Amino acid sequence: MVDVDFKLRIFKRDYTNDHVAWNHLRFAVVDLHKSEDYPSNFVSMLPMRIDSDGKMPSIFTKFFGPKSLETARRLLKEALKTEDDSEIKAEIKRRLNLLEPNPVIQIKCVVCKKFFRTQKERAFKQKICPECMKRYRSQE
Ligand SMILES: [Zn+2]
Repeated sequence: MVDVDFKLRIFKRDYTNDHVAWNHLRFAVVDLHKSEDYPSNFVSMLPMRIDSDGKMPSIFTKFFGPKSLETARRLLKEALKTEDDSEIKAEIKRRLNLLEPNPVIQIKCVVCKKFFRTQKERAFKQKICPECMKRYRSQE
């Protein structure tokens, strides 16, 4: 499988109903080897997260198998180079960050209420920023 033929097609759509209105970007994976025209070259939607342990397989992960994560990253990085819409670019970056195995996120310190950055895996335990932590320790 030559995966250079796969590309992302990103659609902007506005949804509204009685309760909510939101702007939704849809990331479709297309196979240019199959066809140049959409939607006959449609493969699947690009999921927000790639489930690497296969507990909840999506059409995307079923299709790309063990190469899912690598393919998703490559598709997003390539799309980032060609897109010029700032909203789409921001969403691509957000999705790339979600695909990082341990992304750095911002959380709010429960003591000083300032935001600090930490790794996602540690964020569940870590609720206090390093400065406040230091203050606590020095009081002991
Ligand atoms: Zn703090």
